[in-house]
Amino acid sequence: MGANFLIDGQCGGCRFHTYPYEAQIPILIDGKYETRHLTSNDDVWLVIDLLIKETEQTNTEGRSFNIAESVMAQLPFFACKNIMLDKESQQDIARFMYSKQFNISPYSGSYGEQPKKWVEKSFLLNNLIERQKAKAMKHG
Ligand SMILES: [Zn+2]
Repeated sequence: MGANFLIDGQCGGCRFHTYPYEAQIPILIDGKYETRHLTSNDDVWLVIDLLIKETEQTNTEGRSFNIAESVMAQLPFFACKNIMLDKESQQDIARFMYSKQFNISPYSGSYGEQPKKWVEKSFLLNNLIERQKAKAMKHG
């Protein structure tokens, strides 16, 4: 199974299509929105990580935003949506689906020993998958 069902089609070209680029990231840091020089998918995942943390923080203050929805809503402001479709992400998604299906840990070791980037990604993917399921149920 690919990630295609997570995203409505591939991007045919946008201002964040090729690295490097500058983008104002949608997170308030010290009272302002900083412009970042982004050079790779890793840089984008760092911003996604910040967004996840910010949304979690907001939720501890009594709100209940869906984290994946928040991230996906902000993504077009600083990244090409193809980041979710790149080869590495596809492999992670395949691994994620497999480990979920067979209820095994994708990497050896306890949850705390999983690679940090993987933990973030699978967390986001899980949210996206649940969101897609909910959508599919709604539309019959
Ligand atoms: Zn693009």
